[in-house]
Amino acid sequence: MVFECLTYRAECQDCGAETTCSGVQALVGGSLTWDTEISCPSCGLALADRGGDLPAELRDRLLAEHGAARLTVDPAASEAVAMRVLRTVLGLALADVTSVFHEVVAGRYVGTMPEMERLARGLRAAGVDAVAART
Ligand SMILES: [Zn+2]
Repeated sequence: MVFECLTYRAECQDCGAETTCSGVQALVGGSLTWDTEISCPSCGLALADRGGDLPAELRDRLLAEHGAARLTVDPAASEAVAMRVLRTVLGLALADVTSVFHEVVAGRYVGTMPEMERLARGLRAAGVDAVAART
């Protein structure tokens, strides 16, 4: 399994005390998940949240702490196939996929490792040679 973990501080939603939370972004069966756990030392609140959305601020922290991963594809790959996969996996509009594809080809498309690995697997499943690696 491909995953990245993060520890961060947040306010307890019950008592307002500062608590330490942990979050995990993982690639599970072709989907990205974001699970968080909070346990408050002050009031004893313990919560686990599965399958939430990864907030942009915490995604930035993940990238800062683990480093970005880059998606590279075989330059000889079929553009039509690669664009179809990118469009499907990312849920992009047709108008937006071309610029993403050009970033990928130029080696400028980066994200968290689970995000890039999801794309690389989708591309490989469609017969396009693709690799996700740390920059
Ligand atoms: Zn609390």
